[in-house]
Amino acid sequence: MAYRKFRADRLFTGRELLGNDHVLITEKDGRIKSIVAIAEAGSDIEELRGILTPGFINCHCHLELSHMKGMIPTATGLIDFVLKVVTQRDFPQEEIFLAMVSAENELLMNGVVAVGDICNNTDSIAAKKNGRLYYHNFIEVSGWNPAIADIRFEKSKSFYDEYAKVFEGKLNASSHSEAGLSMAPHAPYSVSDELWEKIQPYYNGLTTIHNQESAQENELFENGRGEFLRLYNLMKIENTGFVSTHKSSLQSCLSKLSPAKRVILVHNTFTSQNDLEYCINSFHGSDHQHALFFCLCPNANLYIENELPPVELFRKFNCNIVLGTDSLASNHQLSILKEAQTLSKHFPNIPLEEILQWCTSRGAAALGISEQFGSFSAGKKPGINLIESTFVDHLSENARVRKML
Ligand SMILES: [Zn+2]
Repeated sequence: MAYRKFRADRLFTGRELLGNDHVLITEKDGRIKSIVAIAEAGSDIEELRGILTPGFINCHCHLELSHMKGMIPTATGLIDFVLKVVTQRDFPQEEIFLAMVSAENELLMNGVVAVGDICNNTDSIAAKKNGRLYYHNFIEVSGWNPAIADIRFEKSKSFYDEYAKVFEGKLNASSHSEAGLSMAPHAPYSVSDELWEKIQPYYNGLTTIHNQESAQENELFENGRGEFLRLYNLMKIENTGFVSTHKSSLQSCLSKLSPAKRVILVHNTFTSQNDLEYCINSFHGSDHQHALFFCLCPNANLYIENELPPVELFRKFNCNIVLGTDSLASNHQLSILKEAQTLSKHFPNIPLEEILQWCTSRGAAALGISEQFGSFSAGKKPGINLIESTFVDHLSENARVRKML
């Protein structure tokens, strides 16, 4: 048999949910051939229970923090979470490597095919160069004190160069790329204007930033007060030059992201309607809907802050929503389905078709890999998942992924 044929209770194409009267036909290696009506599909059809979907896209992860699983208690709030990560992340290299390989196994088992991954060092190269998943590597840059902008930039640039060398010839090359590479500012509260200017030429069309993960981030920019002053103090970070902008953190930094064609804003837990109106009016004009992606990591938000992002607000403004797991330091697992289940549970009005788009085609558009991933279009090799033990019109709490190809 040259082809494989799959039929399930429902078939999600990446865009729409079809019924069990359609059959997905692929080559043996998983390359999509077509979707046909059952009457035209012939014999040797694999009959399955559940929902077939393209492979999942995880737009925000930190593979290099996988060894920190379970180390940080839940509900500490962002400030204490950040303090714990920076003071406790150092471990023997061997342990860090083994944790990353096991995290990668978990991503694969959970049907993830591509990852937007934050890198603060070169630790994860050893795991990634095996090519088991597509990675867009975001070299994360931080430095709040303008006086250290040069030092911080040079350090990040050396990591960037190392990734560029390892993945040479495989980077950002449309339909055949095997990895992506960009520099990314860590967060509005951790990057000085001077440093920001240095990294802009290295967005390479796509960047990402942790955005409004806590209410205190807005407080800092709006009135120069709050918990972030405690963070600066404890970490001995120079803050005397900072002048409050009297705007939210997102409105204070959005223009510095605009040299990128696409931006993935991550978390957005405390993004307001006013922020979204500002985004629509000022970011890439009428193209803002193809340029700005709002990556939600609900299980990490529950872990760190015990909060959830205003999902209905993003839907009301037709925002591009995508999903991420964040790291194992702030999540119990690396599963895009689990993120979708959490959203489905807390926001039961969201149609299943829409949530599945966030897991697949939207994520692929955000990472710029729609030519390979995110939908069952002929010629693509997007990975094939079966969501089992679920209702066919919404995700049950017991739903789980079986990776078919
Ligand atoms: Zn993160």
